[in-house]
Amino acid sequence: MQDFDAIHDLIEKPQTVLITTHLNPDADAMGSSLGLAGYLKKKGHHVIVIVPTEYPENLYWLGGNEEVIVFEEKKRVEISQLFEQTDVIFCLDFSAINRIRDLEPLVRQSRAKKVMIDHHLEPESFADYAYWDTKAAATAQLIFQLIDRFGDKNLVDVPMAECLYAGIMTDTGSFRHANTTGDVHRVVAELIDIGIEVSPIHRRIYDNVSVDKLRFTGYALSEKLVVLPEYRFAYITITDAELKRFRSKMGDTEGLVNQALAVEGVIMAAILIDRGDEVKMSFRSVGDFSVRDLASQHFNGGGHKNAAGGRTTLTLKETEEKLLSVLPAYQEQLLETV
Ligand code: 5GP
Ligand code: MN
Repeated sequence: MQDFDAIHDLIEKPQTVLITTHLNPDADAMGSSLGLAGYLKKKGHHVIVIVPTEYPENLYWLGGNEEVIVFEEKKRVEISQLFEQTDVIFCLDFSAINRIRDLEPLVRQSRAKKVMIDHHLEPESFADYAYWDTKAAATAQLIFQLIDRFGDKNLVDVPMAECLYAGIMTDTGSFRHANTTGDVHRVVAELIDIGIEVSPIHRRIYDNVSVDKLRFTGYALSEKLVVLPEYRFAYITITDAELKRFRSKMGDTEGLVNQALAVEGVIMAAILIDRGDEVKMSFRSVGDFSVRDLASQHFNGGGHKNAAGGRTTLTLKETEEKLLSVLPAYQEQLLETV
């Protein structure tokens, strides 16, 4: 699904463009949105970025961050008007429309043309046009490739390049996941040539950890990590009380699941977090074992083969029990994965 010409025509003349992305936006969600926003502004558009929920403070340095609107119930009327008045809506880094939570009805009802740019598996067809490529490591990579295809690479400045680099860097796990292709490095080479400094970007994103988060990580690994060698599986559950005890902020639980995956012999890891109204689950795997299948079959989720998420309205304990009860069905596959 690559509607390059249609997307090109759509942004030919300056108009109002709204960009949105998934809930709990990560660096790819924010980096691709703000990178695209920078580009569209240079093309003369009036650009608005609206996200469904807060995002981690270690992304506040991204160029254009100060203009991002975060959905809040009290702003519903004002935000609804923005969705009604816009000409084009870009939906970035998600393809299941329920991933934008309160913004879903606003996107659906808007008369604007909708464009999806994404790299997740099995997109839903809510958009008029799409640039969708599951081989891309990050939506930020697709944004750069789109700008390049439109012959506008010269418009990418340092702040935009930093945004795109941040998205690619984090979605590839700092260029180590299996999605780190030649194309990834070619795009990144161009971003570096534009003049970004990579080391400060890594520091701002990864080495900006609060003491609370560090202690929380230590606690989770020491007290909450469960390893089940018979399934080559490791997981962590986090209660609401534990989040409160460590004054956990948005993003403080990020990365924990990868540490569970680092246990020797383990090829699948999960973290189950009690978020009050739901239990949020993150899954990671290595090799051919697809956590996306597991998340979509049992936990109302999706994502990629090696990184997926899901959610339940069960209690944390019930969610854990459900997860443990589905494991036997995957045991053979887990033990066979190389
Ligand atoms: P994370 O564990 O970092 O939240 O998400 C890992 C991957 O799975 C991301 O690519 C994310 O987009 C996807 N993902 C996370 N939660 C969900 C979900 O509830 N539904 C779907 N379809 N994808 C999800
Ligand atoms: Mn992404």
